[in-house]
Amino acid sequence: MDALTVRPGEANSAWIEQIDEPAIESGSVLVQTLAVGICGTDLEIIAGEYGWAPPNRDRLVLGHESIGRVLEAPADSGLSAGDFVAGIVRHPDPVPCANCAVGEWDMCRNGLYTERGIKEIDGFCRERYRSDPHFLVKAPASLGIEGVLIEPTSVIAKAWDHIERIGARSVWKPKVVLITGAGPIGLLAAMMGRQRELEVHVLDIVTDGPKPGLVADLGAQYHSTGIKELASKADIVIECTGIGQLVFDILSSTPAGAITCLAGISSGGRTISADFGTLNKSMVLENDVVFGSVNANRRHYEMAVNALAQADHAWLQRIANRRVPLQQWHDATTRGPNDVKTLIQLADL
Ligand SMILES: [Zn+2]
Repeated sequence: MDALTVRPGEANSAWIEQIDEPAIESGSVLVQTLAVGICGTDLEIIAGEYGWAPPNRDRLVLGHESIGRVLEAPADSGLSAGDFVAGIVRHPDPVPCANCAVGEWDMCRNGLYTERGIKEIDGFCRERYRSDPHFLVKAPASLGIEGVLIEPTSVIAKAWDHIERIGARSVWKPKVVLITGAGPIGLLAAMMGRQRELEVHVLDIVTDGPKPGLVADLGAQYHSTGIKELASKADIVIECTGIGQLVFDILSSTPAGAITCLAGISSGGRTISADFGTLNKSMVLENDVVFGSVNANRRHYEMAVNALAQADHAWLQRIANRRVPLQQWHDATTRGPNDVKTLIQLADL
């Protein structure tokens, strides 16, 4: 069958190749991949800047954001042929660490976890794959191909989960959330903020294209300037850009008791001049919290399914707004001005 594979660490090494059917040892459930989403991590892997091949191999099957259809499942798996499923990306480390041992592999402490399509286990960008049922999350059929948004939504569901756990340290009645970056992750964070009936503000540098309208149609407010003013009113900030200066401006502007979740990965290498002493003083005196968040465990995938099931389906279609067939996968690696999330479609619904 066809698969999109790459030699991690080597730029321009991605191509479609014929691979064997998935081995039965890789899981009792056989899944037909319908589509995979392309995100920044995929582009980094294709550029040779990230990713690890499975042990004793030099190529990795790409794709970690997925929606598929069950072809075969054992009777006791809780799944049946025809069910739509998303594959869980991270698998626990073999030791396992204290967190992986209880299914909280998103909090792995020893770094020995594996990740589908990223780190040492083949991904989903192939016609069929196998999985243990424990690493599949059932999606409502009504989500259709937009079920591919389950994985990116799970990442932001974890961010919300941890924000709310931290908020529970005291009496906490948040009203305003600021989200920086209106890419797919920021937009999904805004969607979940509106589902919590919060006043949602989204800041991004662009002033045209689909992002302002997508934000407005959530009942949220779009901004392209004014970070300090916006942060000064935010009970919660979800930072999705990883831009160092923006992070500093947020942390030095938020009001007392604010919770800031850093969910964007910085490219690094850029130095900013900043007064961390003054920042420290205000964070201490205001009980401010800043924390990083990455990945998701099964609970967060289930939260993501619920959030997407409640969302306006037409709005989700505007997020997953470009589809290319597998043979034209290369078209999915370039972003046009109107693209939000590009999918590689492997099969029809
Ligand atoms: Zn672990």
